[in-house]
Amino acid sequence: MNILVINCGSSSLKFQLIDAATEALIAKGLCERIGIDGSKIVYQPTGAEKKETVTPMADHTQAIRLVIDALTDKETGVVGSLSEIGAVGHRIVHGGEKFASSTLVTDEVIKTITDCNELAPLHNPANLIGIAACKELMPDTPMAAVFDTAFHQTMPKEAYLYGIPYEYYEKYKVRRYGFHGTSHAYVSKRAAEMLGRKYEDLKLIVCHLGNGASVSAVRNGKCIDTSMGLTPLEGLIMGTRSGDIDPAIIEFIAHKENKSVDEVMTVLNKKSGVLGLSGGLSSDFRDLLKAYDEGDEAGIRTVEAFAYRVTKYIGAYAAAMNGVDAICFTAGVGENNPFIRDLVCSRLGYLGITMDEEQNAKRGEELMISTPDSLTKVLMIPTNEELAIARETYALVKA
Ligand code: ADP
Repeated sequence: MNILVINCGSSSLKFQLIDAATEALIAKGLCERIGIDGSKIVYQPTGAEKKETVTPMADHTQAIRLVIDALTDKETGVVGSLSEIGAVGHRIVHGGEKFASSTLVTDEVIKTITDCNELAPLHNPANLIGIAACKELMPDTPMAAVFDTAFHQTMPKEAYLYGIPYEYYEKYKVRRYGFHGTSHAYVSKRAAEMLGRKYEDLKLIVCHLGNGASVSAVRNGKCIDTSMGLTPLEGLIMGTRSGDIDPAIIEFIAHKENKSVDEVMTVLNKKSGVLGLSGGLSSDFRDLLKAYDEGDEAGIRTVEAFAYRVTKYIGAYAAAMNGVDAICFTAGVGENNPFIRDLVCSRLGYLGITMDEEQNAKRGEELMISTPDSLTKVLMIPTNEELAIARETYALVKA
C-alpha cells in the first residue's frame, strides 16, 4: 500500500509517497508560498530529476490538488491513479493530553485536534487545513493523524509539571508536552536495534539537533522527560528560538526596549537562539562553524553555548534515569556535524565515553561513533519522521 505523508505548515506543504510494504520512498516534494505570490511546487520521483513549477496556489486544497496531479501525471507521475494511494498520514504538531498515540482521522478526532489549537496556534490550524483539503479531494481514502507530542505523553507528573500554581494546569493544561516525538521515538527504537538490545531494557538520551532542537530521556521504551515544554520554545538554544531563559527577562526587555509581551515573544521565537547570540550572523550551523574555524568571536561564543546546553541536558537526563546506555545524535546538525558531537561529548568522560574519531568523521549512514569499549555508547542515527508517520498510518489502516 502506498502512503502519502503530508506535513502542512501555514504557507508550505511537504509530502512523501512511501510504499508501506518495502518502505521505499517513491516520490517526495514541497509546495512553497501557498497563498502568497510566487507559489512553487517541487516534485521529485525517486531516481528521476527534480521538477520545479511556479504556479499559483491560492490555498492548501489547491496545493494538494497539484501534489495529486504531479503524482498521477502521465509522464512524470509515479502512480496510475488516486486509487493507488491507500492512505494519508498527517503530521500534527499538538495533540495536547488527548492523544498518546496516532489515530485514524474521524470527525470526532478533527474536533479534538481543533480543541488543541490554542496550544499551537501557528501549527495546528495549518495541519487541520491539510486534513480538510485531503478530505475534500480524496474522500474515500483513510487518513491518520500522527502527533509530535504523543511519544512524550508517558512523562510522569514530576517531569511535566511546572513550579507554578497548580490551578493553571487544571484550568488551562499548562504543562510540559514536548515535540519532535516522532523523531525521538524513531531514533530511540533504531538505537535499540543497533545495539542488539531490547528497547524495554535501555536508558537512552536522544539529541535531535536541527533548526528546532530538543533532547529526550527514554527509559525502558518510554519517554520520561524532554526539553521542549508547553511550546517548542523551551530547552536547547535553537536556530532562532532562545530555549531556556529566566522568565523575568521577558518583563525586563519589555521595559527596556518599550516592547509588548507579544513583541518580546517574537524576539524569543524568531530573533534569538544561535541567530541572536551570534549578533545576527546566521541561524545556519554551517555558517557558524565556518566563523568558529576562522576564529570569529561571535561564532565561537555561539557554538560553545549551543554545545554546552546540550551537554547540560545530557547530564540532567543521565541523572533523571540514574544512568544511560547510549546517547543518540540526529537531525541536521546532529547527523552532519562531527565537531559539535565531539564538543558535546568532550565533557562526558564521567559517563565512560570514548569517541571513535574515525567513525565520527564518517557521514550518511547510521554509525556507532564511540569506541567498542566505551561504557556509554554514542550513536549517530539519521531521523526519518516521514517513514515513521507512514509506518504508523499503515499500522492503523490495516488493523
Ligand atoms: P529542521 O527540520 O528543524 O528545519 P534540520 O534537521 O533540517 O532542521 O536541520 C537544519 C540545520 O542543520 C541547519 O542549522 C543546518 O545548518 C544544519 N546542517 C545541515 N547540514 C549541516 C552540516 N553539514 N554541518 C553543520 N550543520 C548542518
